[in-house]
Amino acid sequence: MATAVYFHEDCLKHVTPAGHPEQVARLEYIARALEGVSALDRREAPGCSDADILLCHPQSHLDAITAAEPASGSIALDGDTHMSPGSVMAARRAVGANVAAVDAVLGGEVGNAFVATRPPGHHAEQKTPMGFCLFGNVAIAAKHAMERHGLSRVTIVDFDVHHGNGTQALLWDEPRAQFFSSHQSPLWPGSGHPNETGGHNNIWNHPLAPHSTGVEMRKLYEREIFPAIDRFQPELILISAGFDAHADDPLAQLNWQVEDFVWLTQELCKLANRHCQGRVVSTLEGGYDLRALAASVAAHVEVLMENAQ
Ligand SMILES: [Zn+2]
Repeated sequence: MATAVYFHEDCLKHVTPAGHPEQVARLEYIARALEGVSALDRREAPGCSDADILLCHPQSHLDAITAAEPASGSIALDGDTHMSPGSVMAARRAVGANVAAVDAVLGGEVGNAFVATRPPGHHAEQKTPMGFCLFGNVAIAAKHAMERHGLSRVTIVDFDVHHGNGTQALLWDEPRAQFFSSHQSPLWPGSGHPNETGGHNNIWNHPLAPHSTGVEMRKLYEREIFPAIDRFQPELILISAGFDAHADDPLAQLNWQVEDFVWLTQELCKLANRHCQGRVVSTLEGGYDLRALAASVAAHVEVLMENAQ
């Protein structure tokens, strides 16, 4: 079977201020990197329903984000998180693509999927947009898989260099979800201590020291994370795929290389092959060096394609 890639031009209409790392060019670089890959099943990211967003956020948050969109220019929700005309539609397509990707993978239309949308989602908490994120895209995908497809074991692996505080908050009391975050510590947002374990021992936080490399990352995943996934026996694996642990990234100090993302993707696909017919939905989070981001995403998607069954 094929690997689906979800994208929409509307995700280029969420415009951040000049010099902001979470910029339109990120998706343009990714689109170019995937341009020549003919075997991909390219799909338009659909918009989402209000009900999709309400799987994880209260109506007041949806209303506040909708009302905050400016008619022109840009507004700051906090020091990092901005909205422009078009931001709400971009954010709704990021959610909608995640929901659609889960439907396509669980429905057997495609082997696995990569969601190339923005804004990212893993820092958005129930009522708080944060860290470039408006809605919790991947947490919503997990809830969608559980509430509407009846899954009882969904694993989420967040290898973005920053702690996935939003996904953690949204799935804190969700025993059907197992959430892993590996992240540099110390680093913004400062959360993600190993003693944050969720309401059901379902949250696993794994800090990595600044300047550590793929060697430390591989040891950590082999020792701690893969065995826990094996024990859980997931029916679906979701990946919060941030590529800002790359050595060239300007926002953090880990020293992963493209081959480290390849290795990690391969191992996660092996786990999915073992437990859930290869069902993986991977979603773009961070990654701010444009060249490293494009190369890492292209390599990540190639591994997904090799494993689409
Ligand atoms: Zn990040």
